[in-house]
Amino acid sequence: MLSVHTSPLAQPGTGDAGGMNVYVLQTALQLARRGTEVEIFTRATSSNVPPVQEAGPGVLVRNVVAGPFEGLDKHDLPTQLCPFTAEVLRQEARHQPGHYDLVHSHYWLSGQVGWLARDRWRVPLVFTAHTLAAVKNAALAEGDCPEPATREIGEKQVIAEADRMVANTAEEARQLVELYGADADRIDVVPPGADLARYRPGDRAAARAELGLAADERIVAFVGRIQPLKAPDVLVRAAAELLRTDPARNLRVLIVGGPSGTGLERPDALIELAAELGITDRVTFLPPQPPDRLVQVYRAADLVAVPSYNESFGLVAIEAQATGTPVLAADVGGLGTAVRHGETGLLVAGHHIPDWAAALGTLLDEPRRLDAMRGRAVEHAANFSWEHTADGLLASYAAALSGFGVGEAARPTVLDGPLATERTNLSGAALLGEGGQVRSRALWRRRMGVHR
Ligand code: UDP
Repeated sequence: MLSVHTSPLAQPGTGDAGGMNVYVLQTALQLARRGTEVEIFTRATSSNVPPVQEAGPGVLVRNVVAGPFEGLDKHDLPTQLCPFTAEVLRQEARHQPGHYDLVHSHYWLSGQVGWLARDRWRVPLVFTAHTLAAVKNAALAEGDCPEPATREIGEKQVIAEADRMVANTAEEARQLVELYGADADRIDVVPPGADLARYRPGDRAAARAELGLAADERIVAFVGRIQPLKAPDVLVRAAAELLRTDPARNLRVLIVGGPSGTGLERPDALIELAAELGITDRVTFLPPQPPDRLVQVYRAADLVAVPSYNESFGLVAIEAQATGTPVLAADVGGLGTAVRHGETGLLVAGHHIPDWAAALGTLLDEPRRLDAMRGRAVEHAANFSWEHTADGLLASYAAALSGFGVGEAARPTVLDGPLATERTNLSGAALLGEGGQVRSRALWRRRMGVHR
């Protein structure tokens, strides 16, 4: 697996670390449990990390030195793709040919690296975009910076090259086809999951006591990277609106996470907003929490809000429901799949503050309805496990491998024509011209039985 711009071992909920980190780590662990060992290449962002770390049985994280450890903006990462790729290729070259059976790239930057690795190693490239520039740019928060055109170009290239693509939802699959011209036959829809062993219902009072929260307040939590795209301000404004009409309301907003993306430009913006709205004493901020504390946050809350402008899935929504906490979410992207409107929470169209305040008030003022949603939330979340995701990925990998002509290539084959002396096999000792170069992409595709 390639995860160039963020390590699966980083604490999610701040900076560049979020759902993708959780996804990469959890799917790798599950794949390893099923007998598919995984090596994850990521860019080292500290001189303290060793070159290789074991993330769990059968999962290695390789921290590749490419560019400065600190201070490199995500938008400058394309400048470091060459050194990163060189190190990935060198690493593979230390092994016997055929060390890797498949490369799975996460996010477009890794897609660019995986594309070269695939050509060099002659193994299939599976690509998961996680987010898409065209989708993000179509739903920007007011005043937020659009994703650069270079990203969209880079995504298009990877989507054209990938042997298979994994989309989180059918909607994302459609976006890949309609916005990026992806070949629908090469897309597998595999929903992400939650760690259901960890995110389980529990004692709310104990969770509140552990977090230092009052036992008698109604608590609405936001969990995630704090940036305009995630719209925590919509929750703060909606809470202020409710408190304006009913100042005696026993309401607390709990914000868990750290600044990220364009939110880094004004890291205190949310604190300032709460002050401007006069609700500083009703808002509690917690820094990013590790999973064993985060589960207590979900249990402590009456409701979790996910007001994002765009969300390719929304792991927080599933994790919260898995603990029995209903979710109030924006009706965008994967949240329409993650939350069952009226059953496990509510979906709100748009980001109009009175609509959010009304939805929030409706749920908080109807405790019996909220309670009924709790059980259904747990049932719904049970459909989303990382085990299930890993099964979907293995099916996608199998399709990628079979589409790659591995069946025939597994046994050495004498080819016709000018390269009749060349042989193909899965271990990769194939299709090299004199000097060891792949002679032509179209040629080796044909030789490898890759049909588009
Ligand atoms: N997360 C965490 N600690 C925090 C906040 C978030 O571990 O304090 C994790 C959370 O458990 C979830 C992920 O970060 O798995 C966020 O994923 P999501 O899909 O909701 O948002 P993304 O970061 O992908 O935009």
